[in-house]
Amino acid sequence: MTDFTRTKAMFDLPEGVIYLDGNSLGPLPRAVGTRVQEMLNDEWGQMLITGWNKAGWMGLPTGLGDRIGRLIGAEPGSVVVGDTLSIKVYQAVASALEMNPGRKVVLSDNGNFPSDLYMADGLLRSLGPDYELRVVDPEEVAAHITEEVAVLMLTEVDYRSGRIHDMKALTELAHANGVVTVWDLAHSAGAIPVYLAGCNADFAVGCTYKYLNGGPGAPAFIYVAPRLSGQVRPALSGWLGHEAPFAFDLDYRPGAGIERMRVGTPPVIQMTALSSAMDIWDMADMADIRARSIELTEQFIAGVEATCPGLELASPRDPLRRGSQVSFRFREGYAAMQALIARGVIGDFRAPDIIRFGFTPLYIDKDDVEQAVEILADIIANRLWDKPEYKIRQRVT
Ligand SMILES: *Cc1c(COP(=O)(O)O)cnc(C)c1O
Repeated sequence: MTDFTRTKAMFDLPEGVIYLDGNSLGPLPRAVGTRVQEMLNDEWGQMLITGWNKAGWMGLPTGLGDRIGRLIGAEPGSVVVGDTLSIKVYQAVASALEMNPGRKVVLSDNGNFPSDLYMADGLLRSLGPDYELRVVDPEEVAAHITEEVAVLMLTEVDYRSGRIHDMKALTELAHANGVVTVWDLAHSAGAIPVYLAGCNADFAVGCTYKYLNGGPGAPAFIYVAPRLSGQVRPALSGWLGHEAPFAFDLDYRPGAGIERMRVGTPPVIQMTALSSAMDIWDMADMADIRARSIELTEQFIAGVEATCPGLELASPRDPLRRGSQVSFRFREGYAAMQALIARGVIGDFRAPDIIRFGFTPLYIDKDDVEQAVEILADIIANRLWDKPEYKIRQRVT
């Protein structure tokens, strides 16, 4: 059993804050500061360039990949960490497309995160006018999986509503039509159990600064099924994905398996922070996380619906079809979220009218949820959001 009292004590949350935004940026684990300081002093400071070997910096991308892999049902040696999620989306879609020569359609849905759509669109434009990014409603995806489609690119958990796509069924349908799949796990990794190997997924990508608590700008990860990783061509053919980076050959030869999805020099300081954050995940069981997350989201929905008329649930009501976040529609959502933040309840706002709350059992418990509901109810009932200063849009919402 995961000891949630113990995990909660491992985070350094500010006094008076109920943090319901760990789905966007995970909070700081207590141990990270010390560990990063130690890395700076003892490794970078003392070892200088020898740290790549002595401190094992060069092995961080695959070592971290395996630790994340455990949370997403990936085979050992099938995940590597690096770059940002947008870059990893590009890398995965480019490799996936090449596995289906002759097909020119990438299928996605309009619930996907815009950056994924932008990256795919940018790639397809570089490839030429015959290529097409086909974007359909989330409910229509299955009906559009045909033998015309090269790649199915989906985000498993919708960033706005929290709706979960059926990874197993859609992957099966894709394969039956010769379609290669790319799953984005940005709102899945650390949020819900994922079974990449069990679903026979081809490619997957995700980020580590949301549920995994790696810190702002923490690197992304990419998964390639072991049955494919020895044959895919990395479109971002950087030297650290080369079979022998330190041979300095002028010709590119892809590295063994997942190593080929590495690109350039890993961000060691950021990976050290992530590595320390992952120690907490080593104490957690995804089945426990999921069970607790469902309890918390059910409690929140029931509480808000009982006390906040005017807020409309924008997430699936069935907890099995919902990730670890809950969204409500409210016309003055932006101002309401600013008022909430002023009272210490931190969630976020997604245009045009969604207020979004992430539930992260590692450090959020039932008392937090109860208090958050009370504060939200007060803000709605007494129109506390109706102040000019809460209506000024900031750069990050
Ligand atoms: C958070 C998120 C991103 C962000 O990409 P970055 O390159 O890390 O900024 C991309 N896609 C999805 C689905 C996300 O949820």
